[in-house]
This record gives sequence, structure tokens and C-alpha cells, in this order.
Amino acid sequence: MSRKTLALSDALYHYLQQAQPPLPPLEQRMLEETAQLPGANMQIAPEQASLLSVLTACTGAERTLEIGVFTGLSTLAVARALPAHGKVVAMDVDAAVTARARGYWEEAGVTERIDLRIGPALETLDTLLADGEAASYDLAFIDADKHNYWHYFERCLMLLRPGGLIVVDNVLWHGKVADPEDSDPTTEAIRTFNARLRQDPRVLHAVIPIGDGLTLAVKRHTHGTTTQDAP
Ligand code: SAM
Ligand code: CA
Repeated sequence: MSRKTLALSDALYHYLQQAQPPLPPLEQRMLEETAQLPGANMQIAPEQASLLSVLTACTGAERTLEIGVFTGLSTLAVARALPAHGKVVAMDVDAAVTARARGYWEEAGVTERIDLRIGPALETLDTLLADGEAASYDLAFIDADKHNYWHYFERCLMLLRPGGLIVVDNVLWHGKVADPEDSDPTTEAIRTFNARLRQDPRVLHAVIPIGDGLTLAVKRHTHGTTTQDAP
């Protein structure tokens, strides 16, 4: 028995990967091909992809937001778990890399479920709000430029229905958040995000040490102030 999260040795991490559901061959190829690209380490870990699919399925999500697409693995993890009429509004600034993502989504047969918006995600989120889409989404995944994390979070909170789930990646930032010597602006942005969220009565949240650290935050029905309040 342990009251502390296990540290993962290489052997245990290998075992964890073997214990996950096998990735479909397409996702396996996405991992291999993305590994050859610049910025390869931006891709989510395969165990995070499995978790995103589970979260999508168990929340019964139909309308979702994704901020940061890259080669499309997280988008695909969500899209595969949606019902046929489900939607991901997927946002990224990079038309070239998301063209690759689009190719994978076509192969998976889920392009109908994905509405790719190229441009700064803050602008896309503001457009959705201006279009009257507040409180109409079930799930959001935030995984783009870290300096805007709090702004993304605020907008996603407005776009989510009460009870909706926001998933935020890289909240442990390669361990740098715990290094007092590290004052890099990106590390500081993640620290600020984590600290603000901790004080935020609008959500019930948990920080999960999977991949580079993943926060799950549920939008409360009422703005309670203690973790005992029902979400
Ligand atoms: N979720 C992806 C996956 O599963 O592989 C990884 C996303 S990667 C960490 C971050 C992405 O955010 C990049 O593709 C980058 O082009 C995009 N990005 C950076 N700044 C952005 C912005 N201001 N608005 C929208 N996307 C942005
Ligand atoms: Ca990430």
C-alpha cells in the first residue's frame, strides 16, 4: 500500500504501456511518423491518448474543444470516442502540420466530426463566444502555447456547460515547476496557471501525474467554495 504516487522506473513505464489497450495501427504510425518531425516531443503520450478517449466516453461528451492540434493524436483520441454526430472544434495556428493531422483523420474516417480552425486560438474562442456558443460544450483539451493557458482556461470555462470537463496538459512541465532555480517565463506561466486554479471556486479539479502532468477541472453547477461541494 502507498499513499504516494509511484515513481515510474523505465521497466515499470514499459509495463504500463503494455498494460494499456493496444493502440490502433493508425495511431501507432502517427507516433512513429511524428517522432521524425521537428517538435516531436509536443505530441501527447500514448497513455494520455487512451485517457482522453476514456474521458470523452465516460462524460458522454458530444461537443468538444481542442486547443493545440499538431499532428492530430489528441484530436483523434477524442473524435474516435464521440458519437457519430459529435464535434471537435480543433484549433491551431499551423496550417502545414495540421494538414498532416487531417490526413490521419481521413484515414480514421472521423473528418466529419472535426471542425479545424486555423488561427490564434484566442481569436477562435472569442468567435465561438460571439456566435452565442457559451455553455454549449461538454469537454475542452488545452495543449497549445503555455503563456495563454489562463486565457484559454477562462474562455473554455465560459464555453463549457456546467458539469463540463476541462483537461489541461503539461502542468508539471518536465518537472521544471518544482525547480526553484528555474525562472523561465514558460515555467512561470505554468506555475501561475496551477496556482490560480488552486484558488478557483468555479471548478473542482485534480492534477494527475500522467505524461507531462494533466489537470482535470470540472465546471461546477454553482460557484461553491469547498471541495466538498458537488460539481
Ligand atoms: N495536442 C497535440 C497532440 O496530441 O499531438 C499537441 C499540441 S502541441 C503541444 C501545441 C500546438 O499548439 C502546436 O501545433 C502549435 O502550432 C499550436 N499553437 C501554438 N500557439 C498557438 C496559438 N496561439 N493558437 C493556436 N494554436 C497554437
Ligand atoms: Ca502537450
